[in-house]
Amino acid sequence: PVADVLAQPDDLKTVPRHPSIPMPDQLFRPRANSKGLEWGARAHLDALVSEMAAAPVASAPKEITAEAAMTRAAHAFPAWRDTPVADRARALRRAADLLEARRAPLMATLTREAGKTIDDGIAEIREAVDFLRYYADEAEALCQPRVLPGPTGERNAWTVRGRGVFLTVAPWNFPLAIFLGQTAAALAAGNAVVAKPAPQTPRIAAQAVAILHEAGVPEDALVLAPGGTELGQALVAHPAVAGVAFTGSTATAKAINRALAEKDGPIVPLIAETGGINAMIADATALPEQVADDVVMSAFRSAGQRCSACRILYLQQDVADRMLEMIEGAAATLRIGDPGDPATDVGPVIDADALARLQAHVAGHRVRWQGTAPEGLFMPPTIIELATGQTLDREVFGPVLHVKRFAAGKLDTVLDEIEATGYGLTFGLHSRIDATIAKVTGRIGAGNVYVNRNQIGAIVGSQPFGGRGMSGTGPKAGGPLYLQRFVEERVVSTDT
Ligand code: GLU
Repeated sequence: PVADVLAQPDDLKTVPRHPSIPMPDQLFRPRANSKGLEWGARAHLDALVSEMAAAPVASAPKEITAEAAMTRAAHAFPAWRDTPVADRARALRRAADLLEARRAPLMATLTREAGKTIDDGIAEIREAVDFLRYYADEAEALCQPRVLPGPTGERNAWTVRGRGVFLTVAPWNFPLAIFLGQTAAALAAGNAVVAKPAPQTPRIAAQAVAILHEAGVPEDALVLAPGGTELGQALVAHPAVAGVAFTGSTATAKAINRALAEKDGPIVPLIAETGGINAMIADATALPEQVADDVVMSAFRSAGQRCSACRILYLQQDVADRMLEMIEGAAATLRIGDPGDPATDVGPVIDADALARLQAHVAGHRVRWQGTAPEGLFMPPTIIELATGQTLDREVFGPVLHVKRFAAGKLDTVLDEIEATGYGLTFGLHSRIDATIAKVTGRIGAGNVYVNRNQIGAIVGSQPFGGRGMSGTGPKAGGPLYLQRFVEERVVSTDT
């Protein structure tokens, strides 16, 4: 609930704390270089909500053809590549400051266009700010020329620089944070960028791009290309593309990979972050209250529209009924409705197609529990119980949790089943046995493994985010290796 996110650290010291609720200093953990946290505090919430209501409706960006977007960016590339990294980093940091200052109009668009709740909107702006500051720092560290040791008489000058025009393709579920994260990484590393937002969320992307331009990124070094699949295909096929950063479905990532492989010219790298059938396991030693809290957060926050969200919960048979009772009780307290109301926990799903897909999935399964939701694009939180032989073979992108029971001693079978999906994004474990924790975390292939906590909301710079196998190529967003994929290296060896 929003009150937890917004509480002042001082308030929290006075309330009894459940073990799963972060300590005050963790609640406001330093996120990369985050500052300005005070605007998230409860005292400012009313002002923020009225500023959001008063913010004008953002306008939709102008369309542009793939050819025009690529030509503009290709033309701007050499000057941006040769701009000192300190200046590129300064522009990103200035953009981060502007994002914080413009939080109300940005949050208004996140709510109106993407259905983000207030606490999700706050978290999203903070994540976007963190990405900008983190990649500014990382680029300054990475893009320093070095003289490498070599045989006597040779000087080996090593440099890294931008590759060319990077195409960034963002999803609608983090239309500001992921959109800006991909774009900021590419820009920081010295690439020009053509940025394609999801067709559902062009307005927030336009606001973000305007802020980057205002902060000092040249107009043509960052070109916004709003559109759908057809535009995306034309952009990917364009000969000027030097790299692609994509977040979305596994099927689309594979289609982009194929298209890049088939075109003439250079071998173009793809950084893909896709979905997952993310599992959580709770054994008989887990604390039921904590499991309930973390499952509700992981499965239903953001209406389950996170690629990190928990899709399937494995409960040890001995404690399953008790835990399910608590999870259902906790889920029943969620308020579903108007995302602009600070009391709302769960907002709408993104569009009618998404709702129809979720409803069709639920209709084909045995529903164990379902919350209530108002009319409109609202999907009630739902719990489906799967029988022993039943599996989940695709990502269900919404507030639908699947539950399966396992017998004591059958943990290996559960781990095999999870690994057999081929995905590996997030994974959660609730257990109080050190040996179980060591064994499970050692065996599981997921990229982000969470023990005795919820499994969403990775923090830039602390929990680099991304998976393996069908969940993505890596490197992880918000991690120390991410920028390396956005640069090319050169060595100039001179006989002295
Ligand atoms: N990074 C987000 C998280 O940890 C998820 C990103 C996504 O849904 O694409 O929850």
